Amino acid sequence: MLLDRSERSFPRVIIIGGGFGGVEAAKQFKDKEVEVLLIDRNNFHTFQPLMYQVATGTLAADAISFPIRKMFKSQQNFRFRMAEVLQIDQKEKIVKTSVGDYDYDYLIIATGATSNFFGNKQVEKYALPMKSIHEALNIRSYVLQNLEEAVLRRNLHDRERYLNFVVVGGGPTGVELSGAIAEIQLHMLKKDYPELSTHEMKVFLVEGTGKVLGALSEKSSQDAERYLKELGVNVMLNTQVTGYDGNTITFSNGESIPTKTVIWGAGVMGQFPAGIAAETIQRGNRIQTDGQCRVEGMENVYAIGDVAAMITDSTPRGLPGVAPVAQQQGKYVAKHILSTMNNQTVENFKYFDKGSMATVGRNRAVVDLGNFHMKGFLAWMTWMFVHLVSIFGFRNKLVTFVNWSIKFFTKNSGIRLIINRYTRPEAEKEETTYQHS
Ligand SMILES: Cc1cc2nc3c(=O)[nH]c(=O)nc-3n(C[C@H](O)[C@H](O)[C@H](O)COP(=O)(O)OP(=O)(O)OC[C@H]3O[C@@H](n4cnc5c(N)ncnc54)[C@H](O)[C@@H]3O)c2cc1C
Repeated sequence: MLLDRSERSFPRVIIIGGGFGGVEAAKQFKDKEVEVLLIDRNNFHTFQPLMYQVATGTLAADAISFPIRKMFKSQQNFRFRMAEVLQIDQKEKIVKTSVGDYDYDYLIIATGATSNFFGNKQVEKYALPMKSIHEALNIRSYVLQNLEEAVLRRNLHDRERYLNFVVVGGGPTGVELSGAIAEIQLHMLKKDYPELSTHEMKVFLVEGTGKVLGALSEKSSQDAERYLKELGVNVMLNTQVTGYDGNTITFSNGESIPTKTVIWGAGVMGQFPAGIAAETIQRGNRIQTDGQCRVEGMENVYAIGDVAAMITDSTPRGLPGVAPVAQQQGKYVAKHILSTMNNQTVENFKYFDKGSMATVGRNRAVVDLGNFHMKGFLAWMTWMFVHLVSIFGFRNKLVTFVNWSIKFFTKNSGIRLIINRYTRPEAEKEETTYQHS
């Protein structure tokens, strides 16, 4: 049982969210005079950068997930509750959850982000997002389900919407995912589905701006586009999605593609429980903080990672939604809380940018380290090394390494199981026109 405020010897820090930021914050409190309560709707941490490999069958879900309780088994002052946090009551200093209320002395909101469909309800209904492990597994099942459907149809016209795979969003998620689906087409389709021919399957990557990987250097952007094209991905730049009725996706330029599979990687927005003042919420549904990760107008409440918008004079556009920002802010707020408890002053948070990278299928990647740019096989090895050392747990590192090695030597993309069938809402109507040029 957890003690009430009056019975505790140490202040309680509640952390909402066991993602990159929340976990890093909790670790810093080891052996310190605080009680840490981490609350997450899942009992595991997800290594999101490799989620696309779960969606495309290279890795199993448990290779990139790690039980939160196990992660903190040697931290005496750590407690965990698997619950949905519903509301923050800042007056009473309580968080209301699906399993009861918990009082806090300090609160860290590290709830991350969810998919942003920019208000397009039709796209939201039919497209597949990839912001959680459950959603990645849905994609794995649905891609395979559509290949199974395709073999049941005799003529190409009937088959094509099952064999057109559209990924929306040319950021790292879209680039990595479309590259991996193209590899399924190149290396798996003919072996598993002899009824289908490789050229019948098509992968499209749709991006609203004029380049892929817009946040990386010009060189990386161009190299990634070239790699995608070499893999056979149809890269559609300067193209906005206007609608998707479950059968046909339409674009601002008047083109359309018949498809059962649209994967949405085009935008994210912050997610957080009720109780945050409306004036604190910024563009992208993120919580405004000051330069010390404190939520304006809320005593002892911090927001970090993807959910936070640290808009200050030195960071007028906020910080990027990437794991290193969340991790560095997690470390920072824990130290901030401990210093505040000891009446020490703290300097503002400074983000140290370690660089960016993305992979495009086997043997190809791009890496930016400041002004230094790497591409090809060496970049791919660097990408693999960085991700391998970053995954939590020895078993997960080993399983991932073994899977990657098998894939490297056999070009075999591994897990082709439909364990839970994904049931998508029924399409609005059977659409037959196909106008993509
Ligand atoms: C597909 C994909 C690929 C990515 N690739 C990269 C990459 O290559 N490199 C990189 O640096 N970044 C990458 N990112 C971004 C990176 O994963 C995020 O920036 C990072 O996860 C943010 O950490 P966080 O702690 O803010 O949130 P998260 O890691 O998202 O954690 C949030 C946690 O809060 C929990 N939660 C949310 N709301 C509630 C609630 N109400 N109650 C209880 N629990 C709740 C969630 O279950 C989750 O565990 C990728 C993201 C995605 C989706």
